[in-house]
Amino acid sequence: MAGVAESQRFARLRLPVSASRGRRYPELAHPYRNDFQRDRDRIVHSRAFRRLENKTQVFPPSVSDHFRNRLTHTLEVSQIARTIAASLGLDEDFTEALALAHDIGHPPFGHSGEEALAQRMAEHGASFDHNVHALRIVERFESSYAAFPGLNLTFEVREGMAKHSRDFARGEFPELDEYRPGERPPLEAQLIDMADEIAYNTADLDDAADAALFQKADLWEACPDAYALYEPIDSMYPGAPERVRWLEFLRQLVNTLATGLITGTQANLLATQLLSVEDVRQHPVRLVGFTAHAAELNQSLKHFLHAHVYSSPSLEAERAHSAARVGWMFDHLLAHPEAMPENYRLEHAQELPHRLVCDYIAGMTDGYFHRAYLEMT
Ligand code: MG
Repeated sequence: MAGVAESQRFARLRLPVSASRGRRYPELAHPYRNDFQRDRDRIVHSRAFRRLENKTQVFPPSVSDHFRNRLTHTLEVSQIARTIAASLGLDEDFTEALALAHDIGHPPFGHSGEEALAQRMAEHGASFDHNVHALRIVERFESSYAAFPGLNLTFEVREGMAKHSRDFARGEFPELDEYRPGERPPLEAQLIDMADEIAYNTADLDDAADAALFQKADLWEACPDAYALYEPIDSMYPGAPERVRWLEFLRQLVNTLATGLITGTQANLLATQLLSVEDVRQHPVRLVGFTAHAAELNQSLKHFLHAHVYSSPSLEAERAHSAARVGWMFDHLLAHPEAMPENYRLEHAQELPHRLVCDYIAGMTDGYFHRAYLEMT
């Protein structure tokens, strides 16, 4: 960010690649890419990343070609997160790798798919969580290297994925106990979740407006701080098409939230005077956060989206339909494991039957799920 005083950049709290704990399976250094850049490239070249293109974010592609899918959402998160990291003096490559990986554990059909799998797994005394699943993907399911399973990402990228949306205590998720439980992740990892919120709150407004799921007047009434951004644009460009004025507003909104996150984080860091990444880790709470004004704006958008968009009858019906089908397929595959590819079953023969089924469905794109469903019924 131009004009940010050096004292408000926090390079001392950046996690430099030279401080990485490295990879599970040691590898030779690359001549001109550092380890975080290699992690980013491995994620971009993975199958799980490409599958994001055919996974629903919120709005089903059957309604419009312009909606975000999980891939374009991921690119928006990455762009916002990198901008914020750069302005704070944090590591952009580390941030980018984390942003690109942040949603690869999502099953088909967004949150309805996740809830359906979590519910079925709970019936077997197990669980499904997209962050834990993302780690299973990068540790085990991606197999394109001769020397090791998975992508062999650095410890810090795997830790950041594990702590994407929440920190955990030792024993809370036994499978995550190697990732420094009880500690905060580095700032680069802390900002991903917030960049994710900025990206989806603004993008969901855009897509929902496209789908005519709400009246703008209702938004202005529910979120006066949003109207305060729109009003000057409206008077400045009265002749511009409504759609263009709306896009001007959305740009202002992203900018206001991103600036609020940078400013809020700077204030937290100045107030705490932490000196190192280790101090960030030991601090009792996360330090990346909005200013009070940006937090209020963000909250009001969230409330509005829940009240007017996510709970709209068309989306509710779509979600219920998808969840029912995911649940049905889970039961079907558990009863008929032979309907899963033989090489998959042999390769993961050590897994319990419900985990085998869960992983198989979680890896599907929406499109693959539809085809598989039609074949099974
Ligand atoms: Mg996301």
